[in-house]
Amino acid sequence: MNSAPLPERASVVIIGGGVMGTSAAFHLAEAGVDVVLLERDQLGSGSTSRSAGGVRAQFSDALNIQMAQRSLEAFRAFDRRPGWEIDLKQVGYLFVLSREADVAAFTASVAVQNEHGVPSRMLSQAELRRLCPIVAGEDILAGAFSPDDGHATPEAVVQGYAAGARALGARLRVGCEALEIETSGGEITGVVTSHGTITTGIVICTAGAWSGRCGEMVGVTLPVVPLRRQILFTEPMPRLPERLPMTIDFATSFYFHREGPGLLVGMSDPDEQPGFSTATSDGWIPALIEIASRRAPVIADVGIRGGWAGLYEVTPDNNAIIGEVRNVSRFLYAAGFSGHGFLQGPAVGEILRDLVLERPPFVDVSPLSVDRFDSAMLRPEFNVV
Ligand SMILES: Cc1cc2nc3c(=O)[nH]c(=O)nc-3n(C[C@H](O)[C@H](O)[C@H](O)COP(=O)(O)OP(=O)(O)OC[C@H]3O[C@@H](n4cnc5c(N)ncnc54)[C@H](O)[C@@H]3O)c2cc1C
Repeated sequence: MNSAPLPERASVVIIGGGVMGTSAAFHLAEAGVDVVLLERDQLGSGSTSRSAGGVRAQFSDALNIQMAQRSLEAFRAFDRRPGWEIDLKQVGYLFVLSREADVAAFTASVAVQNEHGVPSRMLSQAELRRLCPIVAGEDILAGAFSPDDGHATPEAVVQGYAAGARALGARLRVGCEALEIETSGGEITGVVTSHGTITTGIVICTAGAWSGRCGEMVGVTLPVVPLRRQILFTEPMPRLPERLPMTIDFATSFYFHREGPGLLVGMSDPDEQPGFSTATSDGWIPALIEIASRRAPVIADVGIRGGWAGLYEVTPDNNAIIGEVRNVSRFLYAAGFSGHGFLQGPAVGEILRDLVLERPPFVDVSPLSVDRFDSAMLRPEFNVV
């Protein structure tokens, strides 16, 4: 918990200490901005530490591809900036496709990815099985694969950004909840917290699945819905290939990657209802075993060592909301990553820094503004499970 008192003032206050908040704090501190981050629990204790850690640039939306490319570069250089080991495994990311419509959609996405320098490609069934020998099923039509993708450890990324930000002068306060945002004449004047009030003119909401409440503090609707997802990890599997891509059966959302001597396994539960509970339950296990026995039978037979649940932060078009609101100055937000936020963390922290400094980010994120939901300019991302 905190020993340091709450600062009286800051140029920027960040609400939420997951990958987005800590990345923003690091990038702002690096640019010389006086920043305070508030996390009501522990750093990374929200969705970030519950993530499967998959990192990839295989998206359908060119904006997501560019942000993911930027993030992958940052992950590769993370041991130098901010200077932290994140256990990045560039084993590739493999989508297994068993529906004609998905093959067509992924073929189109791969073309867009290639235009942006992503070395992704479509695979035949035989190539796919060579890359991931534990995959099975005569119904497989094709795969999509990029060798630069893979997985990393989310908590390490948070700790790395937090340590880097602190070293550059940022003040990170855990166990400190933002309760209200004070305004006067349409301008933000401060943030009321569980430990007192901080005077500030700029707030960034990186409150993950809880961002809706954060938006309400300034009268803004941030349409982010919490949806529980569960993950299991298996007993050691001695005959597992040393190098396995992160593999996703796109039709069912069943996925797995190597985790130490076993596998980390997940799948969405189509019966899951929106809510903030992160209690684990067994209701989804029969469906998981049924799909695993068809798609990767060795997984259906192995023992389960443990697991956890976390929250996806879902928007109506499965794409992030990033921007600054117009009705109150200056309130910025980055939320609703709909299951791909961990990998976007480095790029989004950099973008938030530039939005705060009112200079153009490396990519124009205005299409991701929350205003798109009023203007029907939705921006659906297809490659999410
Ligand atoms: C099971 C699962 C698997 C996933 N797998 C992947 C994956 O493979 N790859 C990938 O890229 N993404 C994945 N994700 C998604 C990813 O975890 C999220 O998109 C990402 O972590 C969001 O980061 P964040 O910083 O926005 O939110 P969070 O990590 O949730 O951080 C928000 C923080 O805000 C704090 N907070 C909220 N309200 C307040 C307040 N009022 N005051 C102070 N603090 C507050 C919370 O305590 C929380 O710590 C997965 C998610 C789940 C649940």
